[in-house]
Amino acid sequence: MEQKKFLIIGAGLAGTTLAHELLKARQQVTLVDKGENHATAIAAGMVNPMVFRRMNKSWRLDECMQDAVPYYLKLEEKFQKQLYFPITIRRMFSSLQEREFWEKRQEIDEFKSYLNTINEADNNYSEAINEFGSGRLNQAFWVDALAYYEGNRNYFQSIDCLLDEEFDLAQFDEKTASYKGVEYDKVVFCCGYLNKYIPFFAEAPVEQTKGQTVTIESTDLPEDESLNRKCFVLPLGNHIFRIGATYEWNDESLTTSESSKDLLLEHLSVLGDFPLKILDQSVGVRPTVLDRRPIMGQHPELNKLFIFNGLGTKGYLMAPTLAKDMRAFLLEGKEMDKEVSLERFWGR
Ligand SMILES: Cc1cc2nc3c(=O)[nH]c(=O)nc-3n(C[C@H](O)[C@H](O)[C@H](O)COP(=O)(O)OP(=O)(O)OC[C@H]3O[C@@H](n4cnc5c(N)ncnc54)[C@H](O)[C@@H]3O)c2cc1C
Repeated sequence: MEQKKFLIIGAGLAGTTLAHELLKARQQVTLVDKGENHATAIAAGMVNPMVFRRMNKSWRLDECMQDAVPYYLKLEEKFQKQLYFPITIRRMFSSLQEREFWEKRQEIDEFKSYLNTINEADNNYSEAINEFGSGRLNQAFWVDALAYYEGNRNYFQSIDCLLDEEFDLAQFDEKTASYKGVEYDKVVFCCGYLNKYIPFFAEAPVEQTKGQTVTIESTDLPEDESLNRKCFVLPLGNHIFRIGATYEWNDESLTTSESSKDLLLEHLSVLGDFPLKILDQSVGVRPTVLDRRPIMGQHPELNKLFIFNGLGTKGYLMAPTLAKDMRAFLLEGKEMDKEVSLERFWGR
């Protein structure tokens, strides 16, 4: 395949997964990232195969799992650092109805590898308030988000693929796709929630959903599973846990708030009255889309410009698969999945 020159703006999950895909296909890649990341690096990095609210599998789950696990394991080798941490999620049911829903699903073939059959031990689970029993979810994992972001920065710097700077619009010609005097074949904007500052794609409806988490120390919470009900409790080892996350719509301020901390602790109290010490509180902003699907595609008029954004709350699960889709779209002209295509909003 002919080698093309790609410029990718943003080295979060979207930009890095795409850059690895393009490099694998022997393309020339330059990433631009200003080194301030407020989603990929601060995320809890949880990969929960289910959407508990509707007790459905995540979108394109089986395919995404098949791509995601090897992707993170391969990067571990590259970075010489653990990124991938398997974990069992224990859903504490909030109603009889939810429990019945699980019981129905656990009988269906396509759910069997994810949902464990509820047993006596799940019914009698005593490490959290247990009104309606609990269910264990397989194949979940979490990614060390900061290590992912920093590992990628170091890696792309080491192979001379990263410009560590703010993308300078004044030095970009959108018609020829030239940046700082170098002409590129294709430019892909992967700017996360900052997309609205990129004039060419400001019309793409990427929203900002602020999220906060608290990190606590407690000797009373289980360390071998991630409890889940109203919030997630992610064990990080040594009695340290991350509790998350809030959803604060259309707020891109990067400040933590007492009210969000109180809300997370209130959600935790639904699981039990755990003595704890607060160690930290973090804040970030997710790029989200109202219909809960990412936005990917080509600019309707400026045909060298592309977008890969809107990864939302399931970014760590979906990004490796969607980066493959994006590579096929960019290199082979393969049609974009209609559910994520930019065309569903713009430029049909
Ligand atoms: C509190 C919180 C918890 C989360 N937890 C989870 C979770 O448990 N599991 C999960 O899957 N997802 C989670 N997410 C969501 C996940 O973080 C996002 O889906 C994902 O990180 C989005 O990646 P991105 O590359 O699109 O955006 P970003 O990570 O925001 O990356 C965009 C990059 O572009 C760069 N950039 C932007 N504009 C410019 C410019 N003009 N010049 C140069 N560089 C620029 C930025 O510096 C940034 O590095 C969470 C998010 C938050 C906020």
